[in-house]
Amino acid sequence: MCVPSIAIQRYRELRAAGLSRSAIRRAVATGELHHLRRGVYASADACAEVMIAATHGGALACVSAARHWGLWVLDEPGDVHVWLHHDGHRRHADDPCTCIEHWDEGTRDAFALPSAARVLRQILACAGVEAFFVALESARRAGIVGPAALRWLTSHIGDEGREAVALSRDDADSGLESLLRWRLRHHGLTVRTQVRIASVGVVDVLIGERLIVETDGKANHDSPSLRHKDLLRDAHAALWGYVTLRFDYAMIVHEWELVESAILASVASGHHLVPGR
Ligand SMILES: [Zn+2]
Ligand SMILES: [Zn+2]
Ligand SMILES: [Zn+2]
Repeated sequence: MCVPSIAIQRYRELRAAGLSRSAIRRAVATGELHHLRRGVYASADACAEVMIAATHGGALACVSAARHWGLWVLDEPGDVHVWLHHDGHRRHADDPCTCIEHWDEGTRDAFALPSAARVLRQILACAGVEAFFVALESARRAGIVGPAALRWLTSHIGDEGREAVALSRDDADSGLESLLRWRLRHHGLTVRTQVRIASVGVVDVLIGERLIVETDGKANHDSPSLRHKDLLRDAHAALWGYVTLRFDYAMIVHEWELVESAILASVASGHHLVPGR
């Protein structure tokens, strides 16, 4: 992904950087620059999303901007989210355009990414509290939102968002962990990820002391050798008194009721506890 404030340049910025009128024309002819619209150009390393946003009169917003910040985003990339300035215009070329408009007020630096705190607020409003919580924990882990940004955020969101901020941590290991902790938050369970267990290896999620949740799907677990490795891990885990539940990423994201029921049934049987304690 590119750096939008560098990848998108206005004509006058190119001229100020020393490019003559004919040099700009040549750069467009050779593909070093893309001419997006009147007075707006993109460098060759500009990604498609940034070019769409600039062509349509705005900067990246929301989940599209979050990806550029390197934050965890639950869904695969889809339509581009664009921050259109309230005193600007939309300039969608296609009709109907599929980009998703954001119109929240705030000072904006042309085509640069909005601040991470603003991006988080946009996600809360547009994609909901779970997507917000996951992105928030990754921003906190990366040190992108500090105390001042968190204060700004807290004073610009509603109760649900504030609950998420209060629960958020700065040491989450993955979006999946954040999602599991958020969705299991009312059950009083300890949820840890990437826990090393002797003779088993590093497991994705450990609930309590003994319940392992493995999430297949990122790597190809269908191949016979990986399948064999998974079964070996499960056998070793069982040997040491652990119970393993396996879900794929899609189940956790999209079939949560089933996953939650399975986890809670296992917890009800005491599988997460060390026997005798
Ligand atoms: Zn980019
Ligand atoms: Zn959005
Ligand atoms: Zn558009």
